[in-house]
Amino acid sequence: MEVFTSVQSLRQFLDQQVLQQKTIGLVPTMGALHTGHISLIEAAKKDNDIVVCSVFVNPTQFNNPEDLAKYPRTFEADRVMLENAGCSAVFAPSVEEMYPEQPVVKMNFGALETVMEGASRPGHFNGVGIVVSKLFNIVKPQYAYFGQKDLQQVSVVRQLISDLSFDIELIICPTVRESDGLAMSSRNTRLNADERAIAPHIYRILTGAGEALNAGKKVNEVVNWAKSEFGKIKEFTLDYFEVIYLGDLLPIESIGPAGSNAICVAAFLGPVRLIDNIIF
Ligand code: AMP
Repeated sequence: MEVFTSVQSLRQFLDQQVLQQKTIGLVPTMGALHTGHISLIEAAKKDNDIVVCSVFVNPTQFNNPEDLAKYPRTFEADRVMLENAGCSAVFAPSVEEMYPEQPVVKMNFGALETVMEGASRPGHFNGVGIVVSKLFNIVKPQYAYFGQKDLQQVSVVRQLISDLSFDIELIICPTVRESDGLAMSSRNTRLNADERAIAPHIYRILTGAGEALNAGKKVNEVVNWAKSEFGKIKEFTLDYFEVIYLGDLLPIESIGPAGSNAICVAAFLGPVRLIDNIIF
C-alpha cells in the first residue's frame, strides 16, 4: 500500500494506473478509522482495481473549533487497518497541502442545507462540498463510496455530482453498528464509560420510532414519544429528531412508501455530538 501526502505524487501514481486501464474507487474519510470505514474499503475493492482512501480532517467543514481540535487523529493505526484491508493507496495530506490558500469559492446546497446538519452546523456543507470536489478532481475516481450514516452528506454529494457534472458514480454503504446498536463513529472514542453505556439508546429510540410508524402511529405522536425518551436521560441534549422524506430531507406529517422515509437524529452526549438515522 502506498502512502501519499502530496497531491502531485498521488496524481503521478494514479496517472500510471489509468495508463494501465485500472479503475479507481475513492473512499473519503477523516481517519480514526473503524469497521464502518473498512466496510467502504471492502465495497470499493469489489468494484475497482485501485482503492484510494483519503485521510484528512477537513477544517473547512468544522463549525465548532473544539470539535476540530478534539477530533481523534490516529494515523498510524489507520495505516495498519487500511493495509490489512487491502487498500491500494492512502492520501493523507496536510492542511497546507489541501489548502495552500483559503478557498474563496462558496458552495450553497439550497434547501438541502437548511435542515438538520445544515441548520445546526452553519457552513458545514460548504466545507464538505469543497473538500469532496477537491478530492474528486485530484483522484478522478469512477466510483466514490459514502456511508448512509451521514445521510444528509449523501444527498449533498449527489447534488454536487449532478450540478458539477462529475463523471463519478456514488455508492452508498449501510451503517455498520456495534453489537449494542450504536452506529460506529470516530467520535465514539471521545465518550467516557458512562456516556458510552448510554449511547445505544439513540438506536433504541430510532428503531422504536420506526416500528411505531410502520405500525401506523402518527408521525407527530412518535416524534413526541422519541423526544420524551431522550428527555428521560439527563446526559442527552437532543439537537433534532426528524421524520423526513428521503427525496428532499424535509419533515413529513405522514409516511410514504417503504424505503422513502428516514428518521434522523442528532444528540449531544456530554460534549460529543452523535448522529444516526434509519431508512424505513
Ligand atoms: P468520516 O471519517 O466520519 O468523515 O466518515 C468517512 C465515511 O465513512 C463517510 O462516508 C461516512 O458516512 C462513513 N461512515 C462513518 N461511519 C460509518 C459507519 N458506522 N458505517 C458505515 N459508514 C460509515
